[in-house]
Amino acid sequence: MYRSTPPSKTQIGAALRFYSPTGELPKDALELELEGMPLPAAPIEETQMNDITTPTLPDAARFILAGNAIFTVVSRRTGERFTFKVSQADEGRDGKAPPHFVGVLAGPDNTSDYTFIGTLFSDGTYRHSAKSRISSTAPSAKAAMWVMTMVRKDPAKLMEQADFHHAGRCGRCGRLLTVPSSIESGFGPECAGKMM
Ligand SMILES: [Zn+2]
Repeated sequence: MYRSTPPSKTQIGAALRFYSPTGELPKDALELELEGMPLPAAPIEETQMNDITTPTLPDAARFILAGNAIFTVVSRRTGERFTFKVSQADEGRDGKAPPHFVGVLAGPDNTSDYTFIGTLFSDGTYRHSAKSRISSTAPSAKAAMWVMTMVRKDPAKLMEQADFHHAGRCGRCGRLLTVPSSIESGFGPECAGKMM
């Protein structure tokens, strides 16, 4: 017959030490009887505590700034859609955090057809590149300007006004998926047709 073993004094001591905010044991902890002694409730995970005490960016905003992100943004107002690739530089200048470079998908290959469009600097300023072959008044440039400015300035509003879909992989062939309906279904158009 299975009998659970009561926790040892060492286990209780370790649990109490973990539970105690100061790491100190209560004076009489080691004197406690083992039988009937309830173990302290599990401590709140450190990450949960961080979520409570420090405001964190919405997941989509964290994804955009993660350093190697491909995502598709759809305006809730107009339904307009663009796919961006946002990469963080390896190093920043003058001891500052590295900037993010923004490319927009401008061709049929969603792994390589990105055109450089602008830079998000570590202070939160986004600048359209004068060297970009996409004009600053093009819809994709305006969308990039809006997304990359708001991602630091007001990410909550950004999430209200647009839907973000981070790139997926086709479950059948492994190709990158950037069209929202494909990301949703998990299949590219060709493979979707070959599946039951
Ligand atoms: Zn596929």
